[in-house]
Amino acid sequence: MVCNDDAVSGVPAGLPVLLDVADRLVVVVGGGTVATRRARMFADAGAQVRIVAPELSLELLERAESTPALFDLRVRRYSPGDLDGAWLVVTATDDAGVNAEVATAAEARQCFCVRADVASAGSARIPAMHMSGELIISVNAGDDPRRAAELRNLIASALELGSLATRPIRAATTGSVALVGGGPGDPELITVRGRRLLFEADVVVTDRLAPRALLDALSPEVEIIDCGKSAHRHNLTQDEINSVIVQRALAGRRVVRLKGGDPFVFGRGGEEVAACVAAGVAVQVVPGITSATAAPAAAGIPVTHRGVAADFAVVSGHRDPGRAEAGWNWPELAVGPATLVLLMGLDTLDGIAEELIRHGRPAHTPAAAIHRATLPEQRVVRASLGELAAAVRRAGLAAPTVVVIGEVVALGDR
Ligand code: SAH
Repeated sequence: MVCNDDAVSGVPAGLPVLLDVADRLVVVVGGGTVATRRARMFADAGAQVRIVAPELSLELLERAESTPALFDLRVRRYSPGDLDGAWLVVTATDDAGVNAEVATAAEARQCFCVRADVASAGSARIPAMHMSGELIISVNAGDDPRRAAELRNLIASALELGSLATRPIRAATTGSVALVGGGPGDPELITVRGRRLLFEADVVVTDRLAPRALLDALSPEVEIIDCGKSAHRHNLTQDEINSVIVQRALAGRRVVRLKGGDPFVFGRGGEEVAACVAAGVAVQVVPGITSATAAPAAAGIPVTHRGVAADFAVVSGHRDPGRAEAGWNWPELAVGPATLVLLMGLDTLDGIAEELIRHGRPAHTPAAAIHRATLPEQRVVRASLGELAAAVRRAGLAAPTVVVIGEVVALGDR
């Protein structure tokens, strides 16, 4: 057994290495919280995991049941043969005698052993870790795991917030496209993955409604292509956008297509995915917080509420309310979903309100228009359904604005 006093004399107590545990046997002795966490970690890394303990946590039992090929459960006390074939052993029982016995047996087999109870008495230690894309951060702070976790957390949040620049230096081996939902506008409302991909990108193709504040933090080498999408002014047509993301990816660049809200909610994300697939370009979609729910939320309006609204519909107003070919189903919309959320609906609001009322939605239904939700310029106009269009005009609201119609709007007044 390695009892390590070396750290005192200035020699480090270990060297960090990355173990490829995929398809290799890792033995975990113990079935409690720590053993479960370790078994989960190794299973997630593709290892074969043998767990030896008289009692196993519910999670271990469930995991072993759902992926039996990865697990070998031995529901009893440890015995020496349990280490047969192991590349690595973790002992995490609450019995120091058993842990010591396991460590000694592992040592005799020249197999590294992690001791959960006394880290320095094992021949290997598991660092505090953070994985983010291709990055693996591993921190050890001697025998102070909480300090290690704290430093790991600081590094992880600096990476995620972009204050540690981590744009890959090495060119990508093959280009790719990520359709990233940027959320409603507040730069904090993008997902962690979306922000990471954004900071790793070589090219960012952005919409007007995307959270542009995030672009200021990008490195000057990043090519930013602005589609300047607005209702009345298209700098790039959709075909041009499809073509630019595909061409940049085919040239070997990491492309992020940054979009407002969620890429698949009135975002034409499906068309961009199709263009990538057709060109053989690897594409992933990172969902975003859609303004359909975020804008009401920013005004204090829940789109569903127990006893008030059990369903909601999200509707595009970017079509003529007077034309049957536009696909409106007025009888359904008027009396169907309790809450209606209208996107791109300011220009057509008069006609939409009129049709809804004509088909049975009461004119006094509470309604609200939320302009530039989650941004400092956010404005909210409230009125009954019958009066909202006029109130919006008086207030001078323009796009982007989300309209909510339904009894839930009254909850936002509380
Ligand atoms: N994919 C986007 C929607 C794109 S359609 C999403 O999921 O949110 C564009 C419409 O979204 C705008 O006309 C407006 O109705 C709405 N919108 C987007 N961001 C908004 C914001 N911050 N405040 C109010 N409305 C917004």
